[in-house]
Amino acid sequence: MERQIRGIPASPGIVVGHAHLLRWEVPDVRHRIVPDEAIPAEIDRLHRALERARERLRQVRARVEASAGPEEAAIFDVQLSILDDAELTRGVEELIRQNMGAEKAFDVIMLEWRNRFARHAAAMLRERVGDVTDVHIRVLSLLLDLPDRDPVTLPPGSNAILVTHDLTPSLTVQLDRSTIAAIATDAGTRTAHVAILARSLGLPAVVGLRTATAELQGGERVVLDGGTGMLAINPTDEEIAAYHERQREEAVAEAALADLAALEAITLDGVRITLRANVDIPEDAEAAARSGAEGVGLMRTEFLVVGRPNMPDEDEQYRAYRRVLEAFEGHPVIIRTFDIGGDKLPMGGFPSEPNPFLGWRAIRMCLDQPEMFRTQLRALLRASMHGNLRIMLPLIVTLDEVPAARRLLDESARELTDRGIPHRVDIPLGVMIETPAAAVAGDTLTRDVDFFSIGTNDLVQYTLAVDRGNANLAPRYTPLHPAVLRLIQRTVEVATLADIDVAVCGEMASQPLMAFALLGLGVRQLSVAPRSVPLVKRIVRSVTASHAKLAASAALRALTADDAREELARRLADVVGDAPFLYDGLPGAR
Ligand code: PEP
Ligand code: MG
Repeated sequence: MERQIRGIPASPGIVVGHAHLLRWEVPDVRHRIVPDEAIPAEIDRLHRALERARERLRQVRARVEASAGPEEAAIFDVQLSILDDAELTRGVEELIRQNMGAEKAFDVIMLEWRNRFARHAAAMLRERVGDVTDVHIRVLSLLLDLPDRDPVTLPPGSNAILVTHDLTPSLTVQLDRSTIAAIATDAGTRTAHVAILARSLGLPAVVGLRTATAELQGGERVVLDGGTGMLAINPTDEEIAAYHERQREEAVAEAALADLAALEAITLDGVRITLRANVDIPEDAEAAARSGAEGVGLMRTEFLVVGRPNMPDEDEQYRAYRRVLEAFEGHPVIIRTFDIGGDKLPMGGFPSEPNPFLGWRAIRMCLDQPEMFRTQLRALLRASMHGNLRIMLPLIVTLDEVPAARRLLDESARELTDRGIPHRVDIPLGVMIETPAAAVAGDTLTRDVDFFSIGTNDLVQYTLAVDRGNANLAPRYTPLHPAVLRLIQRTVEVATLADIDVAVCGEMASQPLMAFALLGLGVRQLSVAPRSVPLVKRIVRSVTASHAKLAASAALRALTADDAREELARRLADVVGDAPFLYDGLPGAR
């Protein structure tokens, strides 16, 4: 008998498979007294668990090396060296000799280690907290005889639906695509980075399910529908047959949309819209180019970093940027400098902060670490020889940040000139408008920049003070709130007055009703996930810009997001009818 849990649709696609529960969290440990005579056996038990953990890590290391390369595999060396640390073993043995159970003794020492690392003055050591935690979980799971839930141990071809509380981007990029077919998480929202990354990996995903890990044991037959946000547990054979039928229908609908790739993105009254793709990983570039996108409106370079123990060097970055530029054959490709921080962290992370989204992230981190930033800028400059590059800065709040970045760009160019390496000198430099500060005071930024791109994912989060990744707040994350609409309108006006390009590259652009609103607000450039390009093109080709303008004016007069949505929906239905393609699987579009 089928049971369903509803979550937030994050990445489309229907998958029928088995649930694989990932509980990668430190288990609870109870205190247990070991009698004197049992102490030697308890110490033996500790050593056996350490040895088994080493064995498992060596296997994982070999597998990751084969699938992802030696750099990714290197993080497991750090964990192996923690397991081999004599001081650690001595500390745990000492506590066992004081009659403490091995698991509690190990737990106590690892907590000490984690605290010591987390507070360490050297950033290198602080970054190792994640490794200490991984070892903590792995060894305790062995000592407590918990089921092995390592995400990379599934047999090939498992077709597993990974069910977990939350998935960090670093864990996501480690996932073995040959075994994981879909992702289901308790936490998260459509604009959380796990959802963005799942979309770019083409992995169907439902997030914000809240109770999935509590309701599932692992091993159950489940169906995940990433388009509607549904997870069905133990469906009957007839129900599965119905899902397979839906799968076929979706494939047909997608093929029909793909036919639009060659057509222009032009409204019925002749207004030309530039439709570009968001590219998160270089491997996406060729498929994105085939979607019919006229270039890249946002490449999120931080996905080159998350899930890695070290930063990619200049050559590796150069190759990644060049690949994207070449895939788009002269169309503009906007590459954003590292937006590291918030929930996008490299393996091991950075020092934890109480408010990471208000913390040391994006342009702030790059300007404070000029060596790291210059490496990226040199790689971008070198790649500029292979296409039509534009560079974009994330999370700009104040004008000072732009000249500071430009100075580093000029310095990097001089370094290349000194080394005799060719590069372009006239690369347009733009900024993301994704903070209320940048949107309200956009006029202070126009002088120094060549283009704006509105990042609605963050703009909504910062304007409404609603965490974009918090499932409990998802109903309060309303891009059609009057404050957000007014900030977008203002940004478009300021950019138009200054005669610079303005685009929208946040998720709002890929939702039909909101894309309609954006056209009405005067936005003429949209950048969306490659899979959404044909759908948004279809919206553009189905409406008139003048009708969209009237609808946006009505939305701007509305007092609440709900009222704005109603105004827009009614007016969109007037022109396109109640076409199901407008609503299918798109949260918030109704
Ligand atoms: C945004 O904030 O809208 C955006 C496009 O950037 P990201 O989602 O990477 O924060
Ligand atoms: Mg952003």
